[in-house]
Order: sequence, then structure tokens, then C-alpha cells
Amino acid sequence: MVEIKFLAQVDTEKCTGCGKCANVCPTQAIQVKDKKAQVEDPQCLACPNCVDICPEEAIRKIPRVEPLVFGVDYREVDQTELVELCRKAHLHPQQWLCLCTATRVRDGAAAVLKGAKTPEEIALMTGIRSGCSAYCLMTSMRLLEAYGVELEQPKGYRWYKTTQTLWNVSEEMIKKYPGYFLEEDKDVFRPF
Ligand code: SF4
Ligand code: SF4
Repeated sequence: MVEIKFLAQVDTEKCTGCGKCANVCPTQAIQVKDKKAQVEDPQCLACPNCVDICPEEAIRKIPRVEPLVFGVDYREVDQTELVELCRKAHLHPQQWLCLCTATRVRDGAAAVLKGAKTPEEIALMTGIRSGCSAYCLMTSMRLLEAYGVELEQPKGYRWYKTTQTLWNVSEEMIKKYPGYFLEEDKDVFRPF
């Protein structure tokens, strides 16, 4: 379970409505209306993004009256499907999905099997992306791609493409450079 104890608050006197905060919010919790940013309370995971990017220093984090609690119980989904999804994504179910919240890949996979279609929806089911908000993005996108979800780039710069991994290296290159032990690295994941 992930507890969110803070909430972003906008100082409307300072806000110029530039929209930079909305572009980096990992849950699309910010809308700019009438040139002022507004935070949707139940969607704010209190990550550092909007506070860090605001050029006017118009956002601060305030304590919530009651913490928001997130979490997906991976045992509630079909375990064969869960393992198969992780295998297709080349992720081990027990490896970390989000280091900041100590969430494992199996929890993100369960969120996808329960219907999450975007990294934002995975975040709002599991509480990931409430810390650095970057490490878990790639892993979430890999799970979604492996499940056959066609990811559409949202407006702004909220997402990035998935980066290259060992699994994208061609067999030809692996054979050409045996000293990098890429085939052996793949074997680490194969048994599960
Ligand atoms: S980044 Fe700051 S100034 Fe720009 S819309 Fe957000 S709160 Fe307002
Ligand atoms: S989730 Fe992060 S970026 Fe979005 S409103 Fe809350 S603190 Fe700001």
C-alpha cells in the first residue's frame, strides 16, 4: 500500500497559466482554466514535478487532512496471465517497478490486467510515480506494450518513448560481441 500524505496547492496570485506543470504531471491532475492551474485533489500523488518546474514558484505541497491510499493486490488476478504478461515484457514479477514506493512489477502487471490502459491509470491504481516519477514510467510502458495497448503520446512532454534494452539487440550483434555476455544476461530472465 502507498500512502500519499501531501497535496499540491497553486498560488493563483503567482500563477501565469503557462501550463508547464500540467505537462509534467504523471496523473494529469492539473488543468489550466482561465489562465490558472487547478489541481484535482484525488488525482494528486504529491510527486515533485509541478513544484520543480513552475517558473513562478507558484506551487507548494501541503499536508492532506486524510492520506490517499493506493495499492493493487496482485493475488486477485489470474497468476498464469500475470506471469505471462511479465514474461512478454521481459520483466521479472518480483523486480521493482517503482523504487520510490517499493512497488513490484507484479503489482503493475495486476493493474494492467485489471484494466489500466495508460501509465497514468497504473499510477492511480498503484501509487507509483509519486516519487521521482521517471524510473517506473518505462517499466509501466513496457507492461502496457506487452499487453497490446497502443500507447498514444499525450499533448506536451509527459511521456517519452521506451528506451532500448537488451531484448532489442539483434542476434547478429550478440554473436559479434561475445565479450559483453548479452546472451548470458538474457538467461537470467529465462527460467521464470
Ligand atoms: S507552471 Fe506555475 S505558473 Fe505555469 S501554470 Fe503551473 S502553476 Fe501556473
Ligand atoms: S501529481 Fe505531482 S505534478 Fe501532479 S499535481 Fe500532484 S504534485 Fe503536481
